[in-house]
Amino acid sequence: MEQRREEKKAREEERVNSLLEQGKKVWAASREVEDLPDKRPYPPVPPSAAGKPQERNRSCHICTQGIASWRGAFTAPLGCSKCPRIFCERCLGHLQDEALLPLAGKPLSTFFDDHWDDWTCLMCRGVCACQEPQLSAKVPIASVCAAGPGRCRIKTAEPHPFRSGDSVSVSGCKLAASAGPVASKALQPVNKQHGSVTWISPGEIELRADASGLPPVAEASGHVTLPTIEKHKRRGWVGVTGSGAIKASPATAAAVTGKRKGSPTPTKRRGSPSRGGGRRTPKKTSTGTRKAKA
Ligand SMILES: [Zn+2]
Ligand SMILES: [Zn+2]
Ligand SMILES: [Zn+2]
Repeated sequence: MEQRREEKKAREEERVNSLLEQGKKVWAASREVEDLPDKRPYPPVPPSAAGKPQERNRSCHICTQGIASWRGAFTAPLGCSKCPRIFCERCLGHLQDEALLPLAGKPLSTFFDDHWDDWTCLMCRGVCACQEPQLSAKVPIASVCAAGPGRCRIKTAEPHPFRSGDSVSVSGCKLAASAGPVASKALQPVNKQHGSVTWISPGEIELRADASGLPPVAEASGHVTLPTIEKHKRRGWVGVTGSGAIKASPATAAAVTGKRKGSPTPTKRRGSPSRGGGRRTPKKTSTGTRKAKA
C-alpha cells in the first residue's frame, strides 16, 4: 500500500514538472488526512469485514469534499473508530439532532475533542440519511418519452421518492430491437442522465435530456436511483444553499427548480468551501448565507 502511494506520488511529480516546463501554472499542493493543521492522529482503522487492511478515507462521507481540495484554515474532520469514514465539521454542524450527535449544548469543537479517539459514525450506527430504505430503492422504469425540447419524461413502474431538484442517476434503459437505431440513440442521453428532476406525479418525473427521436412512449427497462450525496441533501446535511434545504412540498420545490434553471448544479461540489474554507471565500454557497436564509 505504502509502495503504491510512493509510485503515485512520483508519477504526479513527473506530470507537474513536465507542465511547469511547458510554462503552465500548476496547483501542485495536496493535503493528506495525516497532515491536517491540528495534527491529531486518527484512531486506527480496523480491517474490513473481509479482513483486509483499510486506509482512512480522504473525503467527507456526507459532502464528499476531499481534504486535498480544501483551502484555508479548517477543522480536521472527525474520524470513525470502527470504519475508514471521516465527517467534516460543517456537515456534522448541520445535523442539529441530539439523537445523531449529542452535543448537550456544547460547541461542536468540544464534541470533536471529546470523541476524537472513540466515535462510532452515523453509518456504523445505521442512522445515516443514505441508509434510509425508502431513498435507497432502485426505482424501475416503466417508460421514457421525449417531453418538449431538451426534456424527457420517465414513468416509473412504482411510486418514486424523488422531488424536484433531486439529482438522480438513470441507467440500464434498453429499447426493444424493433425500435430502431434512431430511438436507441435518443435513449443514450437519458441513460447518461445525472441531472435535476422536475416532479410531475408520484409515478412520473421529468429530466433535462435530449430525447428527441424517441418513440412517443418508449418501453424501457432500467431504473432511477438517488445518489448517496442526494440522500444527505434531503436532510439538509450538505451545506450548499438551496439544495441543502429541505423542500417543503413538490409544488414549492418545482418553483425552486424553476428559479435555479440555468445555474450549474454539480453533484460533487469539490470546490465549494468547507466551514473553515468558507472564511476565505464567502461565496453564495457559504454557511453564512445558508443560515441567514433559514
Ligand atoms: Zn462534509
Ligand atoms: Zn463508521
Ligand atoms: Zn451517509
